This record gives sequence, C-alpha cells and structure tokens, in this order.
Amino acid sequence: MKIICVGLNYRKHAAEMGRPLPPEPMIFLKPDSALLKKNKPFFIPDFSKNLQFEAEVVLRISKLGKGIAAKYADRYYDALTVGIDFTARDLQHKFSQAGHPWELSKTFDGSAPLGTFIPAERFPNHSDISFSLEINGEPRQEGNTSDLIFGFADIIEYVSTFYTLKTGDLIFTGTPSGVGPVKKGDNLVARLAGETVLDFFVR
Ligand code: MG
Repeated sequence: MKIICVGLNYRKHAAEMGRPLPPEPMIFLKPDSALLKKNKPFFIPDFSKNLQFEAEVVLRISKLGKGIAAKYADRYYDALTVGIDFTARDLQHKFSQAGHPWELSKTFDGSAPLGTFIPAERFPNHSDISFSLEINGEPRQEGNTSDLIFGFADIIEYVSTFYTLKTGDLIFTGTPSGVGPVKKGDNLVARLAGETVLDFFVR
C-alpha cells in the first residue's frame, strides 16, 4: 500500500510556513514503514532536533481506481480518521535550501501515526468535518475540512491521474495552522468530529 500526502492544503498553514499557495495539490508519498498504529509510542529520531507534528484528516481508499472524476471520488474511500504527518523540520529546511527533495524529513519510520477509522457514511457532509489535536491536554490545532484548498474530491481526481489508487491506500489531506515541535513525554490526542481517534505518547 501507499500513503499519499498533500502539502500546504490550508491557507493559514501555508502562511505560517512562509510559502505561496500551490496552484495544484502538492503531493508526496510515505512508505508503509512510516505507519504507526494502535496508539504505539513515537520515538523521536536522533537525526532531528526539530521534530514537528501536523495533524491531518486521513482517507482510506476502498476501491481500485485510476483517472477518477471528482464527482465520483466519494465512491473510492470508505473511512476517515486523523493521522500525524511528523516532519523533521530542520532536515526539511536543509534539503529545501540545497534544492534537493526533502522526502526523508517526512517519510522516515514511524512518521505517520494513524488513528482509528470512522465509517465515511457517519459524516453527513465531508466538506464540513472538524478535527483537532491536543498536546498534554492543551489545544494546539483546530481544523475543519471546509477550509481545505483542495477538497477530498479534488485530491482524488488529481492523484489518480498519476497513480492507480488501490484498496487500503491512505491519503493524508494536509494540516491546518498551529504546527510545532514535540518533546519526549508529550501526549498527543486527536479528535475527528469530537470523537477521540488517536492517543499516544512521544518517547
Ligand atoms: Mg503535512
């Protein structure tokens, strides 16, 4: 399976990163070894001194598809959750400044903690789903899919132009503003439409 991620998909997050809004979805992939399931702890890797959280709504692909039109996109995913797109921000900046791909900074082992999935039909409007991240009981990120620059259907249409989507593939749809560093001992709790889907510790 593959993990498809969208970068800079919320205006305020693009602004906090000092980046212009992308004219089309900005896409990168994580390998399956990035997945961290069942609330297992995340171990900060030695290679980063600035490991940052990005809470994102994640879609689970449920059907094989290629060249999917936006109007049919909702037939191709069956569940949603929240995941964390962990980012070694120091490495990302170093690689970016060198003009090199920064994928190592976002795709290392354990860089994709994944919450418990909620069936898609439980959400009446996929363009209005709230989600949040708390660290040690303190609110850090609040998002709503109504603020996505490229919504779920646009993302699926775009990525399926390039990749065949397969059952079990995941799409991380981008993070809202408020990203920041984690430290050992932090407890991250993510909610989707008020339901706790992810609850784990940083070690
Ligand atoms: Mg992200």
